[in-house]
Amino acid sequence: MSDNKRVRVRFAPSPTGPLHMGGVRTALYNYLFAKKHGGDFLLRVEDTDQTRFVKGAEEYIMEALDWSGISPDEGIAQGGEYGPYRQSERKPMYRQYADQLIASDHAYYAFDTSEELTRMRDLAKESGSANWQYNHITRSTMRNSLTLPADEVEKLLADGTPYVIRIKLPRNHEVKFEDRIRGWVAVNTNNMDDKVLFKSDGMPTYHLANIVDDHLMEITHVIRGEEWLPSAPLHVLLYEYLGWEAPEFAHLPLLLKPDGNGKLSKRDGDRLGFPVFPLEWTNPETNEVSSGYREKGFYAESFVNMLAFLGWNPGDNREILSLEELIDAFSLEKVGKAGSKFDFEKAKWYNEQYLRANSNETLAAQLKPVLAEHNIEISDDRLAAICGLVKERAIFVRDLYEKSTYMFASDFEYDEKTMRKKWKDDSAEILTELKGRLEGVEDFSEANTEATFKGMLEEKGLGFGKVGPIFRLALTGLGMGPSLFEISEILGREEVLNRIDRLIATAA
Ligand code: GLU
Repeated sequence: MSDNKRVRVRFAPSPTGPLHMGGVRTALYNYLFAKKHGGDFLLRVEDTDQTRFVKGAEEYIMEALDWSGISPDEGIAQGGEYGPYRQSERKPMYRQYADQLIASDHAYYAFDTSEELTRMRDLAKESGSANWQYNHITRSTMRNSLTLPADEVEKLLADGTPYVIRIKLPRNHEVKFEDRIRGWVAVNTNNMDDKVLFKSDGMPTYHLANIVDDHLMEITHVIRGEEWLPSAPLHVLLYEYLGWEAPEFAHLPLLLKPDGNGKLSKRDGDRLGFPVFPLEWTNPETNEVSSGYREKGFYAESFVNMLAFLGWNPGDNREILSLEELIDAFSLEKVGKAGSKFDFEKAKWYNEQYLRANSNETLAAQLKPVLAEHNIEISDDRLAAICGLVKERAIFVRDLYEKSTYMFASDFEYDEKTMRKKWKDDSAEILTELKGRLEGVEDFSEANTEATFKGMLEEKGLGFGKVGPIFRLALTGLGMGPSLFEISEILGREEVLNRIDRLIATAA
């Protein structure tokens, strides 16, 4: 790439289903790279394979990027000067380049029917070679414009005989290019096949459409998944044959299953116990629902932070980085070559960190919709205090409620095991004593109730284990939880006394 060119990168998914989290990571790295270099991030929908089109996928992809906070600068929704951004709408643009390649003897017409191709594959299989390819050797035995007489080719074309256009790869030619992540990549054309560039349905294939669009959209860097690395030599040749400057390439490492055994795939769905999609997805044909990070309660910021670290790191020990900080720290040179194992526990850890970093007031605002589902009304101050009480125990906003339900209702059940183990003959008497002392506490602050409680232990010569667990049982119904005195302060004196009475009455 020549210097001083404005950086332009694209995310180019095919709308064949929901976007996989690996796809979001690819989009994210493109976004970070663009922003780092003051460039443009485009979304181009590669829908040339109409047979694989899935309803709703395109909308899903756009929504997923918006939710992640990495909306494109140009795309279907945003528009832009290089549109249309959907390949099916660019259909008339591609043919001329296929024709140009034929004219320069870098491509040819192939008339072989699918039956003929299948027959060749079967024959090859019978003679022990599993991978029959249409290539510089086999093409001489097939029905194409390289083997048929020119007038016959003319006639077939004039008759409207279905054909495809294939690239004509040279024999024994080394294709070399430097990948920003993998270094030099060299492939001999003897190991490549004459890929179809243009299909009988009048549509280009991925390969042709992809490079034509990258050229026309002035893409400077192609940052995409490793699964496209085998296609890159073909793309490099196409750029050369069309007389265009190739963009720089960066092929990202794979995202692996947690055990490292293979690529984390869309098909993994919820099978491994975690979502593989950013947003929930309902398959339009089967109505099967796959879970999404958003619906699981992940913050978009923590999801993106976590994704950024799957294959890249800033080179220091920071782990929590905002999108702005990610942009600042990002470089392709720090992207690793090795596949990155996905770790759902780490994903949750990220969310926990983001949750804790919020103020109690912010968490209260986030928790409100959850409470509304349970018809709970509570003042903002009290709710903020409750959030502060349990935020160290929560991963998701929803947990704030689940870990503190006893703060919203006093008719909870008592944990049987704690009751059995901790309720003793003298428990009612001890609680009555505690109640009497708490009744006299005017300012029911955490410090005051704690001092009263400890004073009683000291005077009576009681250990914490004798009083603490039954007091907690009275306040929360549970055997474990946050500070008893913080809970007391938030509940207030009346409620604390009532709860003590309720336990005594229940246990008696
Ligand atoms: N349409 C391809 C995909 O679905 C794009 C690959 C590329 O970025 O070149 O991933």
